[in-house]
Amino acid sequence: MARLHARARHAAMTAMSILALAATIPGCVAMATEDSGKPAHRQNAERSPARAPSSSQPSAAPSAPSAPARVSDGITHESETPGKAVNLTIDDGPEPIWTLKVLDVLKKYDAKATFCIIGSRAKEYPELVKKVVAAGHRLCDHSVDHNTAMDQCPEPYQRQQVLDAQEMILDAAGPGARVLYYRAPGGAFTPYSREVAASHGMRPLGWNVDTRDWTNPGVERIVDAVHQGLRDGPTILFHDGGGNRGQTVAALDQILPWLKSQGYVFGYPKI
Ligand SMILES: [Zn+2]
Repeated sequence: MARLHARARHAAMTAMSILALAATIPGCVAMATEDSGKPAHRQNAERSPARAPSSSQPSAAPSAPSAPARVSDGITHESETPGKAVNLTIDDGPEPIWTLKVLDVLKKYDAKATFCIIGSRAKEYPELVKKVVAAGHRLCDHSVDHNTAMDQCPEPYQRQQVLDAQEMILDAAGPGARVLYYRAPGGAFTPYSREVAASHGMRPLGWNVDTRDWTNPGVERIVDAVHQGLRDGPTILFHDGGGNRGQTVAALDQILPWLKSQGYVFGYPKI
């Protein structure tokens, strides 16, 4: 009993000290996740950051995957698929309307993508994360809160944003799922956050083609960004979250058949 209290006190103090540190820098205070008040959960994350079986899914323990191996901390852009390949990456979901519409258009053209998922949204919409996995797409950690200034924040905050998101996404995805990449929100990587991700099995993921679809520039401009941008590399950035993504869906409905007609195949970023 005394030990339990000590554990809880330790976890609470850790959370408080991170909060206190983060609170000294504007913009780094959003890290007080709902989990901060759950010492057992926090303690689990601290004791076994490389992913212990979820405490909320004890039945998964016997078949839980082993800790992911360390990967390179260099930012990947290439495709692991040889030849003429593109890596579709879909950021900022899951979102109830647009994630489903994006999944539909990908399915229509038998295209695979990597979904860069915001941890807090995964927690809110676990069924959507499960649909992404069931459709054969890959998962990428896109931080807990999508703080695009997180590179200016203290290391404990960066660590929490990367690792808590990984746990939230895995909890949402269910047993057997893996989060293979980490993409910093707005590309706000630091050497430290890349190292944290890489040491937990997540390859930092960049992009070559920014469609700027999140600005709703018009379907034609999103399509054109891909036509013009592919010379820079194979990894293309789209969004299924952050607002009305009708233009993105309409653009994908043109881009995907065009890519196929040009002889491209849909691959995944190199790990
Ligand atoms: Zn994003």
